[in-house]
Amino acid sequence: MEEQEILTTLKILIIGESGVGKSSLLLRFTDDTFDPEQAATIGVDFKVKTLSVDGNKAKLAIWDTAGQERFRTLTPSYYRGAQGVILVYDVSSKQSFTKLDAWLSELETFATKHDMIKMLVGNKIDKEKREVSKEEGLKFARKHHMLFIEASAKTKEGVQCAFEELVEKIIQTPGLWET
Ligand code: GDP
Ligand code: MG
Repeated sequence: MEEQEILTTLKILIIGESGVGKSSLLLRFTDDTFDPEQAATIGVDFKVKTLSVDGNKAKLAIWDTAGQERFRTLTPSYYRGAQGVILVYDVSSKQSFTKLDAWLSELETFATKHDMIKMLVGNKIDKEKREVSKEEGLKFARKHHMLFIEASAKTKEGVQCAFEELVEKIIQTPGLWET
């Protein structure tokens, strides 16, 4: 079989309110684990994973917030040079959904690549409690030109898809990742 060459390293960010499951989604994607006790304040700086999309191989450096989002102290260097962002809310928390506007405006302020590809993820769909419908999520995503998926870091549903669709779109967008 032909060896695929690694195309590039992409910087992907995960942002959103504290407790929505950002670190859990990342660990589900990179290590296929889920820890129900995941301490909300503990996070990694970033994780690296190689992904094959459309016959192309990309190395992803996925940045987590290490808990700083609690105090809204994500710095411009966190955003710098990112080609993609995953904005997460919790479908069982209306509050996490209403904060999406604030996250988008922070992104506008700090991101250097304004044509960065954005994926909206409604997490925790395994929970019985739901405060945000799929339609509301989809409507918000459309309004802000974002990709959209509902997911559960707990059951794995939608997690792989979220990252794959984001990377696929980045690779298909001319000028975004080529040097
Ligand atoms: P972060 O602050 O956004 O990084 O959120 P964490 O990943 O630390 O998760 C916060 C809490 O939500 C933890 O107790 C997780 O176990 C829990 N959690 C994360 N994702 C899910 C999910 O898909 N379903 C359920 N039921 N709980 C989740
Ligand atoms: Mg975290």
